[in-house]
Amino acid sequence: MTAQLIDGVALSRRLREALRVRVSTLSARHTQPGLAVILVGDNPASQVYVRNKVKACEEVGIRSVLETHPASLTEAALLQRIAAFNADPAIHGILVQLPLPPHIDAQRVIEAIAPEKDVDGFHVANAGALMVGRPGFQPCTPYGCMKMLEHIGYPLRGKHAVVIGRSNIVGKPMAMLLLQANATVTICHSATTDLAHHTRQADVIVAAVGRRALVTADMVKPGAVVIDVGMNRDDTGKLCGDVDFEGVRQVAGWITPVPGGVGPMTITMLLTNTVEAAERAGATPAR
Ligand code: NAP
Repeated sequence: MTAQLIDGVALSRRLREALRVRVSTLSARHTQPGLAVILVGDNPASQVYVRNKVKACEEVGIRSVLETHPASLTEAALLQRIAAFNADPAIHGILVQLPLPPHIDAQRVIEAIAPEKDVDGFHVANAGALMVGRPGFQPCTPYGCMKMLEHIGYPLRGKHAVVIGRSNIVGKPMAMLLLQANATVTICHSATTDLAHHTRQADVIVAAVGRRALVTADMVKPGAVVIDVGMNRDDTGKLCGDVDFEGVRQVAGWITPVPGGVGPMTITMLLTNTVEAAERAGATPAR
């Protein structure tokens, strides 16, 4: 068997076209969605992510405001900037690029963002909403993975999904979304004994660890859907995921590539959340 590819670039293109229409509808009502992006320090990977996000905003007509600060920025100063964006009616989404320098408490910073502008979906109010099944903002990466499953028309009900990784931004929310879609969910992590025992039973595997070639062909049930969230570098410096792509594609039914899979979908869902935030703000009666 050779797996069918789930192309995150092509799907993103389609979803972004639909977003452009929503942005024009908003602009007819004199609203342009606005996203504030805050970068602290000079982490090269973060600089690339932020640049890509700003460029993607331009493509769909979202106004982005990029603020870059030196790594020496104090937590108090960062909190002040967030307070200013919280109060700015032209800003509908606020994104603080992680990681932050060690002297800044990232969770405190996230909690300072108004939940209705937390388009990354990391605020406890949004995490809690996801937990209890109420509307909120879903974290962009798991949201993008769910869109990919929806795109291939995969029926999750009653299927066994194995999520590898339990971070607050990927693994845990991914598991919650799969559970909401009526899958039976197993979450694996660094203390899991015999990872392969679990993955071999999976109809869907989501790998979100950050270790290349963690998932190999012998760990995958024939026909399974394999979603690779990981972002690593191989020996030649090329971007790769957590899945041994060449081996696993011989066994799986569906597979996402790296690059060109979950990465572009993450940015697309950030744009989606920002447009959604602007639409919700427009629907809120003036106080
Ligand atoms: P993270 O916070 O470092 O979490 C990694 C998780 O993997 C942890 O839960 C850890 O378990 C688990 N783990 C570590 N070694 C393991 C092993 N041998 N077997 C099973 N589980 C193991 O990372 P993250 O932020 O969730 O990101 C995960 C990966 O996705 C990274 O490569 C990151 O770059 C990538 N990523 C990609 C996108 C995208 O848009 N494509 C977005 C976000 C993240 P413990 O909890 O026990 O430590």
